[in-house]
Amino acid sequence: NGSNPPYKRILLKLSGEALRSPGSMDNISPEIVARIAGEIADAHRQGGLEIALVVGGGNFWRGAKASVRGMDRATADYVGMLATVMNALALQSAIERAGVPCIVQSAIEMKNVAEPFIRLKARNDLADGKIVIFAAGTGNPFFSTDTTAALRASEINAEIVMKATSVDGVYDADPKKVPDATRFDTITYQECLRRELKVMDSTAFTLCMDNKKPIIVFDMHTPNNITRALLGERIGTIISQ
Ligand code: UDP
Repeated sequence: NGSNPPYKRILLKLSGEALRSPGSMDNISPEIVARIAGEIADAHRQGGLEIALVVGGGNFWRGAKASVRGMDRATADYVGMLATVMNALALQSAIERAGVPCIVQSAIEMKNVAEPFIRLKARNDLADGKIVIFAAGTGNPFFSTDTTAALRASEINAEIVMKATSVDGVYDADPKKVPDATRFDTITYQECLRRELKVMDSTAFTLCMDNKKPIIVFDMHTPNNITRALLGERIGTIISQ
């Protein structure tokens, strides 16, 4: 394949919500997981990429929401981190089925189902052509999986953080409320801050900005968008210096 993708080492963040099928009771849809895994495997094959994944847990649980309802916040956050491990295992199995070796590293030790997080091993596995999924967030309460994505991207020296979501980029206003909101193709970190645009939570955003990791926000529900984004096609919004 003659393609020459612009980014070789990529941190792809998938929200937990992305694994659920709309209107279904299933927290994880096997069909959707298979589709996502197939798209990631395609990009991996076509582009010779190093792909690391961080997956959220919002399809099962969000710590902040449970804490508003009276649960101890740190405990609720640990439950949330464990939720991400379930998503990671589902993705791992589907990626392997799609023909690409894949390992899970968990920030909370769970040795029967996942390897522990070891930065250098992750880097070696990526270089060996394996996809690496970082599960259990940062391992710390009071953080998010967006922050995990920013942190792990910096640790493995990924060139970019790709945030696969349900909107097709960053808008100057909420497109669900303001019909003529306009989408940015590119925008700087500073402009996002000045306009108070929510790309990620502030901890995650600041980490990306301080470590000069560009962020691409794109819609993952459009078929093949994950493959296209990974191979460097200009979709969504790119946030950089
Ligand atoms: N979480 C945490 N520390 C982390 C990452 C995640 O405590 O480093 C918890 C937190 O409670 C969060 C939940 O795990 O609400 C699920 O992650 P997140 O909300 O980021 O998932 P997403 O919205 O991406 O599905």
